[in-house]
Amino acid sequence: MADFFDVLVIGAGPGGYPCAHRALQRGLKKVAVVEMAAPGGVCLNTGCIPTKGFLFGPSPAGGLEERVRANAAAIGRLQKGVEFLLKGVTRFSARARLAGPGRVEIGGHGVVTARHIVLATGSRPRPLARLPFDGTRVLSSDHAVALPSAPASIAIIGAGAVGCEFAEVFSRYGSRVTLIEARDRIVPEMDPWLSRHLERALKKRGVDVQVGATADPATLDVGAILVAVGRQANVEELGLETVGLSTPEGFVRVDGHGRTGVDGVWAVGDVTGPPQLAHRATRQGGIVADCIAGGPSALPSALNPLSIPACVYTHPQLAQVGRVTGDDLKMGEAFFRANGYAVVTDRTDGGVRLFAEAEGGRLTGALLAGPEVAEMVGLINALIGAGATAGQLADTVFPHPTLAEVVREAAEALEE
Ligand SMILES: Cc1cc2nc3c(=O)[nH]c(=O)nc-3n(C[C@H](O)[C@H](O)[C@H](O)COP(=O)(O)OP(=O)(O)OC[C@H]3O[C@@H](n4cnc5c(N)ncnc54)[C@H](O)[C@@H]3O)c2cc1C
Repeated sequence: MADFFDVLVIGAGPGGYPCAHRALQRGLKKVAVVEMAAPGGVCLNTGCIPTKGFLFGPSPAGGLEERVRANAAAIGRLQKGVEFLLKGVTRFSARARLAGPGRVEIGGHGVVTARHIVLATGSRPRPLARLPFDGTRVLSSDHAVALPSAPASIAIIGAGAVGCEFAEVFSRYGSRVTLIEARDRIVPEMDPWLSRHLERALKKRGVDVQVGATADPATLDVGAILVAVGRQANVEELGLETVGLSTPEGFVRVDGHGRTGVDGVWAVGDVTGPPQLAHRATRQGGIVADCIAGGPSALPSALNPLSIPACVYTHPQLAQVGRVTGDDLKMGEAFFRANGYAVVTDRTDGGVRLFAEAEGGRLTGALLAGPEVAEMVGLINALIGAGATAGQLADTVFPHPTLAEVVREAAEALEE
């Protein structure tokens, strides 16, 4: 087996595997990935994918247990897809750690050398000191996606995207849900307009939403507690010190090209800190592969943090991208209650707010609450990236009836 690689990626999540795939596509010959668990990372195995199965897959007669089995079947298929994508990449199923510049120790294989090393080791649930995970009463999201049945009652601590999605999942499967958030509104990282939409919807479902509140474990009279207060980067036992990297903030700091400041060591995804999102990890992985393949004279554009959409996959869905505040902006809005497709399919909750420069009308950002809006925000992001104006969007012919017509109407409102 080759013991020298052009690129060696540690971690096969949505940051690592697309990076390795793209490195191969871009002509690098010897590419390796080391993964100590299942391919696909948190996203595929315990994160994005299973939660969407709970939220949007059919609710089977067999309840949560049957849904968990259906998720497992889907995950299995998707893992094969990741393996297919990694054809031509040397794969190690083991734990890896850095062993000095250009050197990586792979469990059971010894030390290999690599010109470029990409850290894509991801993150894990952050516990609360007073409520350590036990997997039965105090749960992390890893436990929650594998539960055989929904608890009669559950308190969810933390109302970010993960906490809110689980609040809907458990209410859907019959639990009495209390959602507790220390800050003054749910999904506090997003615009308050979006928080209001979701809070209303969750309350309508019967979720007891408590904001500006701290959970006292002693007084929580519930069957289970899900702690969803964020994730910590996997930086331990990685041998970072052997290449001179330190992590005072608890994650590997990188620039917009994934450079760590140490020659030949790059990092992508959750291990690089917030926002810890799969699509950010994937874009970072692509940028790093392009940087390595193209060399210093052909750097791709750096990742613009404003171009990373944030979504919550509840009912209604929430989505936000770009710049949505500033005195230089104007806003146009339209609502699903006036959209034919939304009305006839009974999905009228929410609307779209588009933002554009007051001078010149170039689109800068969007807030969306409503059905399928996570499907729309990527395309709005493309228009923003391409420098399109509200007028160009308003003059585009959208098929009718579609939910996305609301986006065009919001652009038209910007023109008024
Ligand atoms: C419940 C939940 C729902 C989520 N939903 C969404 C969503 O809808 N949309 C979204 O964008 N994001 C979502 N996320 C976040 C998303 O899952 C992460 O941002 C994403 O998985 C990060 O990708 P990554 O490649 O950086 O790391 P990970 O997916 O964490 O993958 C890292 C991989 O590295 C491996 N590894 C770690 N250390 C080593 C080592 N030393 N040697 C070998 N292998 C190692 C791990 O086993 C793992 O497979 C969700 C997360 C959770 C928990």
